[in-house]
Amino acid sequence: MKTQPVVDAIDAGMADARSTLEDLVRIPSISADTARTADVQRSADGVAAYLEACGLENVRQAAAGGSPPAVIGEWLHADGAPTILLYAHHDVQPPGFVDRWTSDPFEPIERDGRLYGRGTADDKAGAVAHAAMVKAWLDTAGSLPCNVKVFIEGEEEIGSPRLAKFLAAYADDLASDVLLLADAGNWSVGTPGLTYSLRGLVSGDVTVAVMNAPVHSGMAGGAVPDPTLALASMLASTIDEYGDIAIDGFWDDVRELTPNERTPLDALPDTSEGLKRAWGVLAGVELAGDPSVSVYERLWFRPAIAVLGFDSHPIAGSSNQIVARATARISIRVAPGQDPERLVVCLRSHLESRVPHGLQFTFDPHETVPAWTCEPAGWAFEAAERALAAGFGKDPVLMGVGGTIPFVGPFAEAFGGIPALLLGPGDPGSDIHGEDESLHLGDWRNLIVSEALLLKE
Ligand SMILES: [Zn+2]
Repeated sequence: MKTQPVVDAIDAGMADARSTLEDLVRIPSISADTARTADVQRSADGVAAYLEACGLENVRQAAAGGSPPAVIGEWLHADGAPTILLYAHHDVQPPGFVDRWTSDPFEPIERDGRLYGRGTADDKAGAVAHAAMVKAWLDTAGSLPCNVKVFIEGEEEIGSPRLAKFLAAYADDLASDVLLLADAGNWSVGTPGLTYSLRGLVSGDVTVAVMNAPVHSGMAGGAVPDPTLALASMLASTIDEYGDIAIDGFWDDVRELTPNERTPLDALPDTSEGLKRAWGVLAGVELAGDPSVSVYERLWFRPAIAVLGFDSHPIAGSSNQIVARATARISIRVAPGQDPERLVVCLRSHLESRVPHGLQFTFDPHETVPAWTCEPAGWAFEAAERALAAGFGKDPVLMGVGGTIPFVGPFAEAFGGIPALLLGPGDPGSDIHGEDESLHLGDWRNLIVSEALLLKE
């Protein structure tokens, strides 16, 4: 099977793939918004129609436990060859502040080689990419070099709450030898990325209460403890002088990096100044974390804590009163190897043992998601490296992501710990989940070519 005709067919089919993507972006398939249920359904219908038009067989919509519709399809005629499961999702985030978008979030428009619109990069481009490269193979070779299953989920943006049920119900339909999840992104425009680690997540609300109602700070101040200061001191005790986590026992299960993880990590240049610019860090502000550890190791392989919200009394409307209670919402990114349930216990007991003046203490845990890593080595990983290098004309960067994609771990485990390849159409400028989300159209084409070459590999 020659690959050049397949690449040519992808190029010839890009206008069609793009118009399909644009049609899908016009559908506000916001899974978090119950008023958009019909749109999520329309989006599933659109994806199913495109999969079928591209030659995938047995295309059907599927759901479990009341989930929004997912779309499944397959092509299983490569006898004796392995089966790859291609994942993407067709639901999207809400648009956020619509007035901060340069153009209508649900009317895709090209500017400077990028296609703007909600869901362009995350992740409708992934869904279209899978089908477009299948079509290119079938149109030119009449068959695929390996077996393919496609799974386009409809509830990723709300945290895939029914994915476990779904995987159990459709285990046979989805069983494969390797996973390709097109829901991550490239290192930068023009340089592909292959993601091999994601941090996990632990979160919860901590509250300290002094009274049922506020009291006058003149009459009671000096005698009645201030819950805002109490909580602030407890939170401050969770980090050391660098801003690294200093919660009792917290680092006990952070594992050493393997040589396969350490080597690509140490090969990365220090781009701290570029990262500061990208994040909009103000002049003179230093990055947090032990400076003897590289910035990417801090971002990908070490735990980190943030206070996402703090309730006391807003300055507007405040008066001479000691507030009755204060609450903080804490979010911790979890390093590879760490047991998130154990971390909840560590966090709770660390905070509880530092409550001053016997204030009433409550801790309400929310999410617990372990980190995910895939040893960046082995036949599937090496095949993906070769395919991306050929598709982009540039070697991929083996990268971690500091964020969390909860479904990746359960997904790989559901099929017996098969290798998972995490790549995708985004890049650091894609602003997924933000205003002005966009897709780099040249890199999208290169991704589609890379996926086609990966089937051959
Ligand atoms: Zn996504």
